[in-house]
Amino acid sequence: MTSVHELIRAAAERESAARPPQKAAGGPASHRRPIALRATGLSSCDTGLASDPWTIDRAPGYGPGASAPDPIPGDAPRQGPLPRRYTDASDEQLHDWIVAAKQQLGDRVRILGHFYQRDEIVQHADFVGDSFMLAQAAKGHPEAEAFVFCGVHFMAETADILSESSQAVVLPNLAAGCSMADMATIEQVERCWEELTGALGADAENGLQPVIPVTYMNSTAAIKAFCGRNGGIVCTSSNARTVLEWAFERGQRVVFFPDQHLGRNTAKAMGIPEELMPLWRPHLALGGNTVEQLHEARVILWNGFCSVHKRFTVQQIERARAEYPGVRVIVHPECPAAVVEAADGAGSTEYIRKEIEAASPGDVIAVGTEVNLVNRLQEQHPELTVFCLDPVVCPCSTMYRIHPAYLAWTLESLVAGSVPNRISVSEDVAGDSRVALERMLAARP
Ligand code: 13P
Ligand code: SF4
Repeated sequence: MTSVHELIRAAAERESAARPPQKAAGGPASHRRPIALRATGLSSCDTGLASDPWTIDRAPGYGPGASAPDPIPGDAPRQGPLPRRYTDASDEQLHDWIVAAKQQLGDRVRILGHFYQRDEIVQHADFVGDSFMLAQAAKGHPEAEAFVFCGVHFMAETADILSESSQAVVLPNLAAGCSMADMATIEQVERCWEELTGALGADAENGLQPVIPVTYMNSTAAIKAFCGRNGGIVCTSSNARTVLEWAFERGQRVVFFPDQHLGRNTAKAMGIPEELMPLWRPHLALGGNTVEQLHEARVILWNGFCSVHKRFTVQQIERARAEYPGVRVIVHPECPAAVVEAADGAGSTEYIRKEIEAASPGDVIAVGTEVNLVNRLQEQHPELTVFCLDPVVCPCSTMYRIHPAYLAWTLESLVAGSVPNRISVSEDVAGDSRVALERMLAARP
């Protein structure tokens, strides 16, 4: 059988043979190619993926990719311009500069990379993992003077909170945020809490608090601190169930920020009916609910979502099953509940990686998560057929902002003795956030 990978490669070769060589002003053509498309040859969700990241950085919004239509908060960090040395460099030069700077820095600097980073970044990372593993890695390397965090802003904040105060955490491109994390602001969360405690009372019943705040790792440090101050906890997609169990030992109900899908999927897997999971819409009084609904609720879900994972549909799963009888479908729990139900398994990016590692030669696996990870897993496992459920290439807009030019600039700045783009959480916020994060690390079975 011809694998999807072979089909994709053939399509890419046909496409590049048909395309005249690209020439763009101001830099080598190798930078002007859309990186995600180069990997697959499929169509893309956004023509802006062909732009240089430093062009995107000057434009408003998240930039091309899945979050392009999401509204970006006015106070989201902006990245300053990169020196021409980096924007004019070829891919090969950037690669060589990164390798040389890394060698000079040695153990003083650790590069942490999330699974969704592009291959040109992942190949330089000392440690690659899901958000839970990266948080552990930041806590577990006291010998490093600095961490270069190739991921997104909330992950870098967490690394800063968990690492020693003398260790610097650097985000190579400040525009690498997360549109889901931005869907809950601390002001909205505090207002929600006031309304909830007003509606539910503040007194414990049979030793259980009226409501326990739980926030997904994909949230600001201020929201993690809020949870720490109010008897709550943080979770990641790899421990959400353990964390909800922890919360139900202490409270009658949970309010879950900001990803409604992870909250719903986890609670459903624990046997909680959907009718007991009202949605909290931050712009409406009581989140758009009645006091009775809130009293009956077991999990109150914040109305946030991930624009990458909301693209996956039950129809895509049906199509994969029709085309590849026997295909195994695995998805990330940020996908909508109907997609998780129609899949054969759901879990964090590390769960997805492990499932593929454990597959047998010849297996066909359709994956519902970010395309950079899916394509890499196929490349690492040529004995399998691994493909993304979404036929349109649509990377996470913000993970995509970490380009090798930023990594080269960051590392060379560190070699020269300056620390660019340091992510520093103030100690009052860090202290309360640490309480919620440490509860999560301790709750792990
Ligand atoms: P993981 O915790 O599975 O790495 O997920 C992080 C994330 O941002 C997924 O969208
Ligand atoms: Fe945020 Fe979704 Fe990107 Fe993860 S994949 S960083 S949740 S936008």
